[in-house]
Amino acid sequence: MLLKQLSNLDGAAGDEQAVREFIRAHAEKHVTSTTVDALGNLICYKKAKKKRPVVLLAAHMDEVGFMITAKNKDGTLRFSRIGGINTQVLLAQMVRIGKEKMPGIIGVKPVHILEEAESKKMPKVEELYMDVGANSDKDLGDVHIGDYAYFSSTYEKLSSTTVMGKAFDDRAGCSLILEMIEKTFPFPLYAVFTTQEEIGLRGARVIGNRIHPDYAIIMEGTGAGDSPSDKDTANTPMLGKGPTLTVKDRSMIADPELLRRIIAVADRNKIPYQIKQPGIGGTDAGRIQISQRGVRCAVIAVPARYIHSPASMMSLKDYRNARKLAIAVLKDLGRTEGK
Ligand SMILES: [Zn+2]
Repeated sequence: MLLKQLSNLDGAAGDEQAVREFIRAHAEKHVTSTTVDALGNLICYKKAKKKRPVVLLAAHMDEVGFMITAKNKDGTLRFSRIGGINTQVLLAQMVRIGKEKMPGIIGVKPVHILEEAESKKMPKVEELYMDVGANSDKDLGDVHIGDYAYFSSTYEKLSSTTVMGKAFDDRAGCSLILEMIEKTFPFPLYAVFTTQEEIGLRGARVIGNRIHPDYAIIMEGTGAGDSPSDKDTANTPMLGKGPTLTVKDRSMIADPELLRRIIAVADRNKIPYQIKQPGIGGTDAGRIQISQRGVRCAVIAVPARYIHSPASMMSLKDYRNARKLAIAVLKDLGRTEGK
């Protein structure tokens, strides 16, 4: 299954190579050309009879991760975060480090020796370290400063509809687009897999300046809000209630006309959807929308609990409905526009 394979691959910002190679190998059978630009974005182009509308689908390949910043004399490793990871989720997590995927753990003191006051405070990320069981900095094998590290969790199927994995943000989007490009559309289609989204939508900036689409639809994995600890809030979006549509996040306001059209397509096809809690998060759409003379952008996302942690949780129902909705929207664009 593509989603499982993609989520299990390691690829933080700047280290997307394994993800890119996997996607390229799968995409090549279904598109006219594939190109990789200087930032590592993978651009797949699918030619069609009609010239317009030019449609761009985009998903980011990178996930959150870590970089080794120093070797301590005792053989432990200092690290920094790549992308937004809450310190709360780091403690005692198992990791894999460097090219050799050396197993290790983010060390914490056991409860037995923890002072009362210490146990109540959250350590700073600079105080944390990775431990691979080495005795000294000379004993670290093939681990180097600047190496990447990742949560060592893998994809699990929890029920017929619920799955758990480390990188649904945004391998869910990558997997959806890979499935979508197997279909034929009457207009030229760019399927773009971007780099460095998690550190400031950087790959997308270059894409927006290179491709001039009439419409861009960004496929994402987005944070679900339905954890039982927030009972007083609106708890949106929820798992299993459909893909989310963005009206406004921190990076953009979705094109109102395109959004209305997506909602009309969903209603007509009886596909459930949820409006993403406005004002939260940001996506590559924020860069693509304001590139060149501007691009009509929308975001369709699969909600996942616990994103940017070792294990996020997603409903396959939402995943399938996101695919159904995106394909129906593309068909609608093909039917009503262009020559
Ligand atoms: Zn994302």
